[in-house]
Amino acid sequence: MTAQSSVVSAAHPDFAVLGGGLCGRLVAWLLAGDGYRVALYERGDAAGTGAAAWVAAAMLAPLAEAASAEPLLVELGAASLDLWPKLIAELPEPVFFQCNGTLVVWHRADRAEAALFERRVRANAPASLVADGGLTALDGAALAAAEPTLAGRFNQGLLLPREGQLDNRQVLAALAAGLEARGVASHWNTPVADGALPAAHVTIDCRGLGAKAALPALRGIRGEVVRVHAPDVALTRPVRMLHPRYPIYIAPKERGLFVIGATEIEGEDMSPVTVRSALELLSAAFAVHPAFGEARIVELNAQCRPTLPDHRPAIVWDGAATIAVNGLYRHGYMIAPEVARTAAELATAVLARRVTDADGFDEWRNQARWAQMLHFSEHEGAGGSGRQPLCEARRQPGYRSHSAEPM
Ligand SMILES: Cc1cc2nc3c(=O)[nH]c(=O)nc-3n(C[C@H](O)[C@H](O)[C@H](O)COP(=O)(O)OP(=O)(O)OC[C@H]3O[C@@H](n4cnc5c(N)ncnc54)[C@H](O)[C@@H]3O)c2cc1C
Repeated sequence: MTAQSSVVSAAHPDFAVLGGGLCGRLVAWLLAGDGYRVALYERGDAAGTGAAAWVAAAMLAPLAEAASAEPLLVELGAASLDLWPKLIAELPEPVFFQCNGTLVVWHRADRAEAALFERRVRANAPASLVADGGLTALDGAALAAAEPTLAGRFNQGLLLPREGQLDNRQVLAALAAGLEARGVASHWNTPVADGALPAAHVTIDCRGLGAKAALPALRGIRGEVVRVHAPDVALTRPVRMLHPRYPIYIAPKERGLFVIGATEIEGEDMSPVTVRSALELLSAAFAVHPAFGEARIVELNAQCRPTLPDHRPAIVWDGAATIAVNGLYRHGYMIAPEVARTAAELATAVLARRVTDADGFDEWRNQARWAQMLHFSEHEGAGGSGRQPLCEARRQPGYRSHSAEPM
């Protein structure tokens, strides 16, 4: 047995999940649903206010994201979009989920941005996502028919009709309730330090940016959003406005609530939203529809997206009893169902000792659907920390990466 598992007993849970943001809650929920004994440790509260997941707009837009994301992300997002309704149907509380597409608009002066956007989407997305009306050019009349409240405001647009969104705070709350219903021992307001892991047979580290000491390659990318109440704006789906300097999205939730975002600023600054960002976001929303001028600002908020150098998610097994799941960057909601499912499958394989060493891991990875995000970073042994930085690990002889890109 490993150094960690040798000191745990049958009285200890099968899995300790560190971090109860989006990913941790989902992994714990899946494992508990399979009958395992799970304990979850979250630094913040049960609502999830300490997580990047709390601030996110929760758009599930793999095709729109293909303008800047590589095919792996797009495919993870498309597969996860199919899984969300099934997951939500099992949760004990309702969650607003919509699959009414994304509308992309731009002002006439920015039409070069539209051409670039479409070219990138077509290059990065599998043809099946674009085919059969997956990406439809709209003239002014068609745009007005699709989104009547924008009639006369834009001459052109792109409709990506199969995309979705959900209410992030509802899903966090429903998952917390679901964890309780499934008997997970949830320890809210309980930070876990690297040197003092709770006893469990297998540990799954989903601490987002809080795992930086264990994964020094992680960095934060700050995002700022505004939540407004605008009952007079009747958008029926998320709208993205292309702009060379201020690209924004407006995601309509329930009861007249809109999430307007988001900035992307390198750094781990969690301080409140700047005046500059608030002006940019609100001016851009006002340019999409002047009725936003009468909206009430409900909240200005900032958080940092946990990001790895290649902007991909990573599931890293240390060769012993710890699996790290991180790097969900700006795509957490879009890809979490598939990432969490894969992490849970690896965790159960490690627990059952179906995966015990690097060769076994390679075999397991070779049959996995998302092999590209699975990594092995060798355990240092009892005297070491048991964790190696992802980038450094990739330079070790024992490290095996199937990543196509250098970190
Ligand atoms: C402004 C903004 C907009 C976004 N919009 C979207 C979007 O539209 N669509 C989309 O798909 N994604 C979006 N995202 C990205 C998404 O929110 C993240 O990818 C996702 O939240 C990452 O999930 P996670 O569980 O890895 O990290 P988090 O959600 O940050 O959760 C990590 C958890 O670990 C806890 N933790 C940290 N340290 C410790 C510790 N020592 N002990 C115990 N617990 C600890 C934290 O409190 C936190 O709850 C957005 C993010 C931001 C910031």
